[in-house]
Order: sequence, then structure tokens, then C-alpha cells
Amino acid sequence: MMRIDILTLFPEMCETVMNESIIGRAQKSGKVEIVCTNIRDYANNKHNKVDDTPYGGGMGMVMAAEPIYNAYKSLYNEGEEKPHLVYLSPKGKTFNQQKAVELSKLPRLVLLCGHYEGIDERVIEEIVDEEISIGDFVLTGGELPALAVADAVCRMLPGVLSDELCFSEESHFDGLLEYPQYTRPAVWMDRQVPEVLLSGNHANIEKWRRCKSLKITMEKRPDMLKQENLDEKDKKLLKKFEDCL
Ligand code: SAM
Repeated sequence: MMRIDILTLFPEMCETVMNESIIGRAQKSGKVEIVCTNIRDYANNKHNKVDDTPYGGGMGMVMAAEPIYNAYKSLYNEGEEKPHLVYLSPKGKTFNQQKAVELSKLPRLVLLCGHYEGIDERVIEEIVDEEISIGDFVLTGGELPALAVADAVCRMLPGVLSDELCFSEESHFDGLLEYPQYTRPAVWMDRQVPEVLLSGNHANIEKWRRCKSLKITMEKRPDMLKQENLDEKDKKLLKKFEDCL
């Protein structure tokens, strides 16, 4: 069973989210263990102080190295393999599905959440294995990014979703965006569900979905796929299904 630790100043915030819905059920059925640790508990000073003013001056407070270091060290015993530590940071490499799959293969993952102006650089140098950003914007803390990463990783663990098809056909799994989805009723606001989806012809449905995925990806994310980069099989498929797209 994979174990994910979240090191944070706001453990309740993380627990509340991780105990709900699909990830909550995955924890109850033993597919994943998620442990939230309060960095403040490792402050080792009279007032449990975890931050201080920045050297050199400037705005805000910086999280001190020692409590973070101590909190991380409390997660494993001497001689045990050091669990992979990710610091959520706007300076990190942008998170994506491929990274979620990669992290889901680890036995243990530790997600470190910064707050205020960030954390002392020396603790990053000492213990962090990689920095991950969830996009080019700045949030007040690493909790929401850590929850996003933990959620995406948990979905990739065996048995968390009812069927592997739930994610293997999804957006970004194989470099394409997903085809459109519909549910009952067949007509809503004069809008009809595409005929092919009602036909029961699974081979045609599969081809239609692939065509839609290709089209949508080229239209919405030309950085992911360009017409000229399609392989011959997909070019033929798109030509054949041109009418229904
Ligand atoms: N002063 C830092 C800077 O300019 O790079 C930003 C600090 S931010 C206000 C506080 C914390 O939020 C960071 O330490 C990080 O853990 C988290 N954070 C903010 N934006 C993030 C993002 N886009 N991706 C991942 N973590 C982020």
C-alpha cells in the first residue's frame, strides 16, 4: 500500500479534503494511507514558532529550516529508505499527468507545503528531492497544490478507480484530450446526443471517440497535437469520419 505524508501547518485542512469521496474510500479500503503532520509540532521552541523575518530584509515571514527538517526526519527510522520528498513551489517544474503516474509508482511520497514567503533555502538543499508547481500563479500556501498532487496520484493507484479505463481514456493520459461525454436524457434543450452513441455499435463508437479526441486536442491545445503530426491511421480515421464531426 502506498503511503503519502503531507507536511503542513494546516493538517485539518488537508485531512478534510483527503477523507472525502473517492480518496476517502481508497483510504478506508487500504489502497492508500495518507498521513498529515503538523510542522508546528516539531518546532522545539517555547512558543512553537515556525517562521521568522527574512535575512536581508523584505516583506513577510519565512518558514524556518529546523521544524521542517525535524518533521521530515520523524517520518522514517535511521537506516530506512528516505521517502521521496516533493516541495510544492511556484518555482518547481509544472505538474502533469505523466508526473502523477511516475509518483504513483513510489512506495512512499512526502509532500511539503510552504506558507508565508516560502521556506528557508537551506532545508530545500538538504532534504528536498524535487520541486513541483501546479501552474504559473502564486497561492498563499502549498496545501491546495499538495492536495491536487495527492488526488491525481491516488487516482492512478490500482483499485482506486473502478476500472483502469476510467483513466486510460481520460484527457492527458495518452497525450490527447478526452472525447465529449453525455448522459440521459437523449434530448435536452433540443440538443440531441450524437446518433452514433445510441447505435450500440461499439467499433463505431470507439472510432468516433478517437476522432473527437484528435479534433478537440488539435483545436483546444495545438501545442499538444498538430494535424501534420498525426500518424497515417489517425489521418485516415479523421477523413472517414469527417461528416459526423
Ligand atoms: N515567495 C514565493 C515566491 O515568490 O516564489 C511564494 C511563496 S507562496 C506565497 C507560499 C507557499 O505556497 C510556497 O512556499 C508554496 O509551498 C506554495 N505555493 C504557492 N503557489 C504555488 C504553486 N503555483 N505551485 C505550488 N506551490 C505553490
